[in-house]
Amino acid sequence: MRAFITGVGGQDGSYLAEQLIADGAEVHALVRSADGPPPFCPPEVRLHTGDVTEHDALRRLLFDVAPDEVYNLAAVSSVARSWQEPELVRNVNGDAAVALMDAALALQESTGSPVRFVQASSAEIFGSPSTAPQDESTPVSPTNPYGEAKALAHLAVSQARVRGLHAVSAILYNHESPRRPTTFVTRKITSTVAAIARGDADELVLGNVEAHRDWGWAPDYVDAMVRALRHPVAQDYVVATGESHTVRDLVHEAFTAAGIDDWERYVRLDPDLLRPTDAAVLVGDSGRAREALGWAPTKTFSAVVAAMVAADLE
Ligand code: GDP
Repeated sequence: MRAFITGVGGQDGSYLAEQLIADGAEVHALVRSADGPPPFCPPEVRLHTGDVTEHDALRRLLFDVAPDEVYNLAAVSSVARSWQEPELVRNVNGDAAVALMDAALALQESTGSPVRFVQASSAEIFGSPSTAPQDESTPVSPTNPYGEAKALAHLAVSQARVRGLHAVSAILYNHESPRRPTTFVTRKITSTVAAIARGDADELVLGNVEAHRDWGWAPDYVDAMVRALRHPVAQDYVVATGESHTVRDLVHEAFTAAGIDDWERYVRLDPDLLRPTDAAVLVGDSGRAREALGWAPTKTFSAVVAAMVAADLE
């Protein structure tokens, strides 16, 4: 079993590499030279330097590695940043995914060996959905540049399937861990709360605290991607806990986990942190993943937040 991962330097890439190495796979991964060694990446992973936006080089590398499984996790992962750099986000999150699927199809045709492909898609493809919870039949209707690019890649997965690739789109809802960068609200909150508990900070500044998100545990979502890719039927899956909480709930949970009760005095709202558009309620129905893949989240919302606060307190 030989796997190829893009985005190994991110939270999910690191957990995925660990899981595949533990499974006994030969794991190859693409890294950008500018990024330096990927954090948390197991030493067994064979690293190749390159960039997903260089389509010809990417195709050559895929032919050299000749993987059985391709995991496309490379992305500009911040919705907030996508407003500042929409073109980059379209290139990395959209066009590169399409190029990689084309390369996987070409590889499969040239060797005659099947190649399986999983695309790390996102709840942001649904934009501001009018129904909750969302599932695989919810209309794709993105409302920010990040969602738009992820939607392009998501739709290309169906197209690649028609052309004969065993391709799967895993529509991932927010998923977190101590490896999440502080640009995401979860880790921003848990790291700041830990700093307040230690006496190193005295306020937590936030934007929209009324947004509802469906937050799960990142290693569970990586496991769902592996299961989805290896299932005999190639189809798309919503991966979510099915529970929605507000950013405010998250703040409360984090302070509680750090043993601070009078938390409201530490929180300040800053309108500069509000986004041009922001989905009000994202919550996913992962019924298909649960039934077809035997998948279920292993950590509750409170447990995810507590694990992150504990790691930040260490
Ligand atoms: P996203 O759902 O992929 O954009 O993940 P984020 O963790 O970046 O944002 C989750 C939600 O938290 C969004 O609705 C944000 O508007 C909201 N939010 C509120 N304050 C902040 C903040 O200070 N930073 C971030 N990143 N998000 C914030």
